[in-house]
This record gives sequence, structure tokens and C-alpha cells, in this order.
Amino acid sequence: MFPGTLSGGVVGRALERGIWSCDVINIRDFAINNYGSVDDTQFGGGAGMVMRADVLGAALDSIQNPGKIIYFSPRGPTLNQHMVREFSANSDATYTLLCGRYEGIDQRVIDEYGILELSIGDYILSGGEIAAQVFIDSCVRVMDNVLGGGVDAAANESFEIGGLEWPLYTRPSVWRGRSVPEVLLSGHHGNIERWRKQQSDEITKERRPDLIKEK
Ligand code: SAH
Repeated sequence: MFPGTLSGGVVGRALERGIWSCDVINIRDFAINNYGSVDDTQFGGGAGMVMRADVLGAALDSIQNPGKIIYFSPRGPTLNQHMVREFSANSDATYTLLCGRYEGIDQRVIDEYGILELSIGDYILSGGEIAAQVFIDSCVRVMDNVLGGGVDAAANESFEIGGLEWPLYTRPSVWRGRSVPEVLLSGHHGNIERWRKQQSDEITKERRPDLIKEK
């Protein structure tokens, strides 16, 4: 699963260039028996299995420099671009990303290690691995020298500009009878900037008014 999809594109190239790295620990290596069990039934009853504290504790203790430990969970605050900026602000930072399976993990592990819970949205995944990849991808792409196009490339993105992005166009200038907005072909930077800002404001107001209130 790792680096999985993170081995492609700008984030994959950053991995090859050593801008970030990732050590994968298989929790099953810390299983309590030869069957590789890492989970057990819930105290108090109910459907679904829970990942055991003793197994996770041993797995976490095997990490020399865990840094901040993050457990991906629907119960955490939802990751947003502001948080992404904060997580990636220190390029030397180390994070331990704990990926849950089954119903989740024993609460005592969260309490014992002071683990930060983090969600990637209001829906339920079957495992935390995809959430961890969302975290890594979004954090790595804002790090220095990852995107081509310099600082502008990341700073011009939706959420970074205080709203959603304006419509994008490239060649051909006419496609199936649809023309690119004239202003973009004018070469007039002031007008282009104004048009983009106005489009961005309109789209944000229509689709995500909550982003405007947040400002
Ligand atoms: N019983 C849990 C859901 C477990 S889903 C509940 O009701 O809250 C199994 C695992 O997938 C979780 O342990 C977590 O690591 C991961 N996961 C599921 N949905 C997620 C989300 N929205 N954000 C981050 N991780 C999630």
C-alpha cells in the first residue's frame, strides 16, 4: 500500500529526490500469535473487531523517532489546507501515521501516547491507509521545491486564495465551438487578474459560501 499511489507524479519525484521518506511498519509483525492476530472482540459486546492495545503499543515502541503520532479516524477534526500548511511547515518533522482497520483501535492507545486524531472527511473508509496517503500527498506538495512553477504554483490553489479556483483553459483556443474567454487571450495582466478574482469569488459564493464566512 505504501508508497502506493504516492510513487507517481510530483510527490513520487519528491520521494526519489529525498524531500520526504516513509518507513512502513506492518502491525502484523507484532501480532499476539502465529495466526497474525492484531484484533479482538469488543468489551461490552457489539459487532466488529478492535485493534489491540498491546499489539499497537509494541508496534509504536519499535519506532525510534516517532515524532507526533496521528491516528486517522472519522472522530478527528477534518484535515484542511490550513492544517496541511502547519503540518508541513517544518520540513524536518517526522510523523507516525497510524492506520486503523476493523472498527478502530483500543482507546487506551490514544490516551497513552497522546495521539492526535485526524479525519479526511465525513464518510467511513475501511482502513486508514488511504487517509494517510491523502495526508502525505497534501503535505508534501506544499513543501519547497516539490511543485514546478515556484511558490506561486501552490499559493494559487483553491483554499489558498481564500476561496475556490477560477476556471482554467489551455489550447486549443476554440474547441467544439467553445471559445476561451477573450480576456485570457488579451495579454492584459491587470484585467486577467481581476477576471480571475471575480470568477473565483462568484464560484465560491455559489458553491461554498462557508469559505467566505470563515475568512
Ligand atoms: N468504527 C469507526 C470507523 C472505523 S473505519 C467509527 O465509527 O468511527 C476503519 C478505519 O478506517 C479507522 O480506524 C480509520 O483509521 C480509517 N478511517 C475510516 N474513515 C476515515 C475518515 N473519514 N478519516 C480518516 N480515517 C478514516
